[in-house]
Amino acid sequence: MISKSIKKTLQSLEQKDISIRELNQEYIKKIKEKSNLNIFIHFEEQKILDQVTELEKDNSNKRLKGIPLAIKDLFCTKNMPTTAASKILENFNPTYESFVTQKLLDDGAIFVGKTNLDEFAMGSATDTSYFGNTINPLSADDTPLAPGGSSGGSAAAVAANLCLGATGTDTGGSIRQPASFCGVVGIKPTYGLCSRWGIAAFASSLDQAGVFTHNVEDASILLESSAGFDKRDSTSANVKIPNYFENLNDDISGKTIGIPKEYSIDGTPEEVSQIWEDAIKVLEKKGVKIKNISLPHTKYALPTYYIIAPAEASSNLARYDGVKYGYRSKEINSLDEMYENTRGQGFGKEVKRRILIGTYVLSAGYYDAYYLKAQKVRKLIANDFNEAFKECDLIVTPTAPSAAFPLHQEQDDPIKMYLNDVFTVPASLAGLPGISIPYGKDKNNLPLGIQILGKHFDEQQVLNGALSLERSNG
Ligand code: GLN
Repeated sequence: MISKSIKKTLQSLEQKDISIRELNQEYIKKIKEKSNLNIFIHFEEQKILDQVTELEKDNSNKRLKGIPLAIKDLFCTKNMPTTAASKILENFNPTYESFVTQKLLDDGAIFVGKTNLDEFAMGSATDTSYFGNTINPLSADDTPLAPGGSSGGSAAAVAANLCLGATGTDTGGSIRQPASFCGVVGIKPTYGLCSRWGIAAFASSLDQAGVFTHNVEDASILLESSAGFDKRDSTSANVKIPNYFENLNDDISGKTIGIPKEYSIDGTPEEVSQIWEDAIKVLEKKGVKIKNISLPHTKYALPTYYIIAPAEASSNLARYDGVKYGYRSKEINSLDEMYENTRGQGFGKEVKRRILIGTYVLSAGYYDAYYLKAQKVRKLIANDFNEAFKECDLIVTPTAPSAAFPLHQEQDDPIKMYLNDVFTVPASLAGLPGISIPYGKDKNNLPLGIQILGKHFDEQQVLNGALSLERSNG
């Protein structure tokens, strides 16, 4: 029996209870057994074994040596293709490694494969992928459930125990919401903590890499390995990365936790409100001071996000034009037609919708009314948090307004799909760190998540708060 904990697995490897080869062979077996869930876009047994062979020749000490990780297929990787779950990048083989994945490789991690996602990370159910949807491993046989999104493949890979951890990206909730749907831990750090270099861009002022794990301790280990300054990303923060794991402490007594009244939203299922209340009570028992706070501009967060993110996406995705790399249409009679057909055939419906919205809100005549206005509101939302954090150390909310829903249930109604992000988007707009940890179940016995938000670059306290709640949750 292999432990689900990175910490314990590293101990077993150290004590030679298991070898790196045996460990990874075990995971290869598990991945093959669960191929029906469509979690991986790229999985090649030989590539995993090759990495093992390389590591076996390496005598140095590495902090993640031999640990099997899954990588969201938005991170460029040199020895595996990178598709962003899009037809337009179907055959793209990057010649370089992203900053985050390079750091994990330097620490001795083994990449078991590239995980499925919503096309270009646009979605909340991993159902806009060109490679088909991923099935939540917690589904009952008769009702396949969505794993959340966009990093649904990574969250599902951890939930199905096909790896010990996985990378994700979070632009408006894409780590926290799937973590909640799949019953795993997912942390989105402060904007700028992990370099965006080598990650296919969606909305550059919001995109942030982070990790999924089985528990909070492991999240602290992987976060430390992923974070760091990188001059190739102009928004990368030059801050010292703390030793999150060494500094973990579940005693958060004396801290003040803010509970924002605007997160009590009409129509939120009773169970979601219930676990939120439970978490607050548990924290109070642990000697934490609970403070009711207000984040008055919360209700504008979703509309603001759904202007800014598509605006940036429309600009970022302009590079996929069939000229330099990626898919190129075969039906070409002129340059214009080449662009049109390449983009028309290469992008899926949701990506096209975002490009259209983004182009519209940036166009002459509408720019001031939409994009500029949204930027101003974004500032107000960030200010709300700045004010709130003068009175509290952490903010606790539910992660998502529901548990995992049946596949395709919300696919035809984009607005309904966008509502999934209601609790995660405000912190994204403010660039704040947030974690989701499994907390309680709904009436169908599906996991729910609690979100803990912290001050900029205060990942340590966010992790400590999460550890405290995790331990109280059994
Ligand atoms: N669900 C949100 C969206 O569709 C968030 C996606 C993300 O964080 N990448 O834009």
